[in-house]
Amino acid sequence: MEIICSEYCGFCRGVNYSVNKALEVLHNNEKIYCLGQIVHNEWVIKKLEEEGLIIVDNIDEVESNSKLIIRAHGERKEVIESALKRNIEVIDLTCGKIKIIINKIKKEKDNSYIIIIGKKNHPEPIGLLSYASKYSSILESDSNIDDVYKKIKDNPYKRVYIVSQTTFGEKRFDELADQIKEKLNDDYEAVIDKTICDATDKRQKDALELSKQVNKMIVIGGKKSSNTLELYKLVKDRCEGSYLIQDVNDLKDITFKKEDRVGIITGASTHINNVDEIVKYLKDTYE
Ligand code: SF4
Repeated sequence: MEIICSEYCGFCRGVNYSVNKALEVLHNNEKIYCLGQIVHNEWVIKKLEEEGLIIVDNIDEVESNSKLIIRAHGERKEVIESALKRNIEVIDLTCGKIKIIINKIKKEKDNSYIIIIGKKNHPEPIGLLSYASKYSSILESDSNIDDVYKKIKDNPYKRVYIVSQTTFGEKRFDELADQIKEKLNDDYEAVIDKTICDATDKRQKDALELSKQVNKMIVIGGKKSSNTLELYKLVKDRCEGSYLIQDVNDLKDITFKKEDRVGIITGASTHINNVDEIVKYLKDTYE
């Protein structure tokens, strides 16, 4: 069996920073909370919980005077304000690239209608939207273009500023941005700012390249991880034998052949140890 690992396997810079920083603060043995999963990866979450991180779903579950980690995806503005009001110390581990988008939104919000192209239920676009005015929307697919267009028609600004969730698929971003631009005609100035993270972009391009060179493709990552799901969508169109797995246990139900060429790529929140375990399992079983 030949195994080819993408050079982009493992954490991206933003996740690496937030996970390492979280581990560093947890070693001080204080009560530290995180709202929602710090990254969408069960293996990483388990490790951080073992180190003492308390994951809660609601800010009301966080004790006053304790500490709260803001995860790499960022958080809604109101949540951070409410934590600070209750003397909760906020440890902001929002990725720097997402902070840049927040600043762009703050700058644009008083003269533009803001569209965030991304997943409606993902914490990143939800967090970004909280920094915009009421004249803003998340656009996820063609099915909500008409609703967004109606809202633009009722807004006071003649400028529409379009950004992206950092982990959104580039092809789908381009399609949606073009469709909305076409609808707006010359009635509005449409500014398209493709804020897809270059780490996501490089990973997606490498995944596509790799999927052309192999007959089996393994995508490793959390099943709720947006960027992992995007990678899986991309490779499965090109490589019939594509599998999305969370860890080595998921591999045990899949049969490979000794003559397979297997490509491996991971989502941005997958630890490199997961890859090592999987490579070892494949070598021990099929070589
Ligand atoms: S994918 Fe990019 S934006 Fe998202 S956490 Fe990683 S480095 Fe930051």
